[in-house]
Amino acid sequence: MQEAKNLKAYKKEVDDALQNEFLRTAMDNFAVAYRTGRVNAFAGMDVEKLVSDIADAKDYAIAHMDELFEEFKTNAEKTGVHVHLARTAQEANEIIARIADENNVAKIVKSKSMTAEETLLNHHLEADGYDVIETDLGEWIIQLRGEGPSHMVMPAIHLSRYQVADLFTDFTGQKQDSEIERLVKVARRELRQQYVEADMGISGANFALADTGSIGLATNEGNARLVTTLPRVHVALVGLDKLIPSLHDALLVNRALPRNATGQGITSYVTWITGPNACASALENKKEMHIVFLDNGRRDLAKDPIFSQVLRCVRCGACANVCPVYRMVGGHKYGHIYIGAIGLIITYFFHGRDKAKNLVQNCINCGACKAVCAAGIDLPRLIKEVLARIQDEAGHPLTSLLLGKVLRSRKLFHTLLRSARIAQKPVTDDSQYLRHLPFFF
Ligand code: SF4
Repeated sequence: MQEAKNLKAYKKEVDDALQNEFLRTAMDNFAVAYRTGRVNAFAGMDVEKLVSDIADAKDYAIAHMDELFEEFKTNAEKTGVHVHLARTAQEANEIIARIADENNVAKIVKSKSMTAEETLLNHHLEADGYDVIETDLGEWIIQLRGEGPSHMVMPAIHLSRYQVADLFTDFTGQKQDSEIERLVKVARRELRQQYVEADMGISGANFALADTGSIGLATNEGNARLVTTLPRVHVALVGLDKLIPSLHDALLVNRALPRNATGQGITSYVTWITGPNACASALENKKEMHIVFLDNGRRDLAKDPIFSQVLRCVRCGACANVCPVYRMVGGHKYGHIYIGAIGLIITYFFHGRDKAKNLVQNCINCGACKAVCAAGIDLPRLIKEVLARIQDEAGHPLTSLLLGKVLRSRKLFHTLLRSARIAQKPVTDDSQYLRHLPFFF
């Protein structure tokens, strides 16, 4: 997770990341494989039309966010779900901690949720004394390492299997093989017991369907199903931007989401949850289910004429996958919590100027992110807008200030041009043109 620090310290960290051969190899291998996988996954599909349909569906949902929330709440409550609305990250964490407290929870299992990363939910719950265990393999690995995710879909992409084998060796106290299948087995063996012992499961959601009050999760490891079914309490933490009118719209998004994220036609599991399921460990055999919607600036963003489109984002991570800067330095140096082009923008809105100011100036505006965005977001333009806002708020660098002053004054501009014409004489030899710059330039 990129912390706010001065530019010099940040540049030093970026330099270090550039020297990290391990990281560069991992990122390069992934970037090459991803491009081929994505092309194959979309073969024969009208991608432009799909992206445009997703943009329209999401724009409708953004414009009707409040109505969709009310509709969702009414329908979910009919099925026995408790629906909450948190205005801030802190409020969301407090609501979830209160639910844990009221239900005498001690152990919590969690499936992957960028929204929970956004609110730093684990830190809050752990500080309150709860035992929180990540169950997504990548999330569990970075939890054991005490790190944040370096990618929104593949949180441990910066690590090699050898590093993971060393980590598992330390954790289990037994030498572990670096074969991927064996490493997966270690995780499965260690985590299975946790689901059984947990009192509460926390998940995110990819979709919140207003017309039925259901949530949808697209996952690959099956851990989210265990997290949402086995423990006696289930809490889903969901950004308001995940609200969508119906299953029809969700399925539209889901045609692009796995293809754009990992080059898969569909994820291994697509789970729809409508109301609390039966649960043998719960009182009267009925699970307690809560859905906590997070605002954290989303309602204001929805009304912003320039930036509302960022709420179309389906968190596929493709804008990181193709970003040349991300490929060079990885997500820990090119993201705060949210990674990739979208991360540069929403970090400013969700986590503040301080966290965004260093990151945003690394964008080289190549446009690769815009070309692959599943929701047709004009990412390069919005990154420039964020940079301009940060500079307006924090003050422009001296060179930009001087240049701005010169460009605003016709007289000053022409005076400087005339002076430059005289000043260049020693190197132009009275010619009007300069064929080669002097060496010291
Ligand atoms: S901005 Fe677009 S490409 Fe990036 S994560 Fe969101 S939907 Fe995917």
